[in-house]
Amino acid sequence: IIVFTGNFVMALTSDQINRYSRHLLLPEVGVEGQEKICNAKVLLIGTGGLGSPLALYLAAAGVGTLGLIDFDVVDFSNLQRQVAHGESTVGKLKVDSAKERIADLNSSIDVRTYNLRLSSENVMDIFKDYDIIIDGTDNFPTRYLASDACVLLNKPYIYGCILRFEGQASVFDSRVGPCYRCLYPEPPPPGLVPSCAEGGVLGILPGIVGLIQANEAIKIILEQGETLIGRLLLFDALGMNFREMKLKKDKNCPICGENPTIKELIDYEEFCGILPVEESPEDDEMEIGVEQVKQMLDNKHAFRLVDVREPSEYDICNIGGAMLIPLGDIEAKDPSKLNGLKPDEEIVLHCKAGVRSMKAAKALQEMGFKNLKSMRGGINEWSEKIDSSVPLY
Ligand code: ZN
Repeated sequence: IIVFTGNFVMALTSDQINRYSRHLLLPEVGVEGQEKICNAKVLLIGTGGLGSPLALYLAAAGVGTLGLIDFDVVDFSNLQRQVAHGESTVGKLKVDSAKERIADLNSSIDVRTYNLRLSSENVMDIFKDYDIIIDGTDNFPTRYLASDACVLLNKPYIYGCILRFEGQASVFDSRVGPCYRCLYPEPPPPGLVPSCAEGGVLGILPGIVGLIQANEAIKIILEQGETLIGRLLLFDALGMNFREMKLKKDKNCPICGENPTIKELIDYEEFCGILPVEESPEDDEMEIGVEQVKQMLDNKHAFRLVDVREPSEYDICNIGGAMLIPLGDIEAKDPSKLNGLKPDEEIVLHCKAGVRSMKAAKALQEMGFKNLKSMRGGINEWSEKIDSSVPLY
């Protein structure tokens, strides 16, 4: 089949006609639309929960060039939702694992992999080669970085975000609508919004939200339908409902408004308040190693071991004899929630990795508790160094 559109002569091979026949039957796609899809260059930031369905369905649809950015390797705990990977690729680079899977699905796709962490230094050079940028990451610095770079390069930025049972999606294009900063001028304080690794996520959820993003990408390529430009879609998997918020361009937006103050990329880690971790000597004094805690338990030393994680985490694994008091109950500073802990007792606090237990120790200190320690590395380090029958999560 040869279609003349203006000065171009485009042709689909007979293999392509066969493969994409269900698209060719749609008047909104047709041969011309499929050619647009085959010529499109789409970049995916992340090949995890959102990136997996994005990569698979965009490759199946025939998006000719797919860029994949990820610095991580496939972990067993990814397989609950990151369907581009499999048991056979655990331990491999995610970009390589996804590329392998795409090659099996549609070998005609030109997959370009970037095994790196996106930064102000490399973003412009990578983004410039693509028509559409799709965000499948789960952190604020990368979101602001990607959105700002898309504003500066005049490219559409397809946003998606997931946590627990809820998701969001939108399309930002500052040429015709708002940008991510128009919606969220300031990042939340660090630690306020938990990541999926901390808060959990229903495995199905990134599949749904990622495919909403993929759907938007295809519509942008085809110039068909109504995209999410100027709309924020909110999805609740438990209530099973979609809501929509109208978004307006902010005249005072520092990057896409009338008098922009941001004209080049900034330090996004700093902007989001993420500073290099510096431990104060005081923190050091308050910490105790897992080996020492093990010894205290073995010697039947009289002390209280307090687990400050959430009940759902306690159910996954716990250290025998530990008493559960979630951090929130400790930070409420209400003695009735402390399960009878006394200010003069010797107390060792632990959590998953050692951050929450340090917060708990400081909160208890403010309540007048004196003999406090926070177990360094949390139950994860306990699992690695003391008792491997305690599962890592
Ligand atoms: Zn803006």
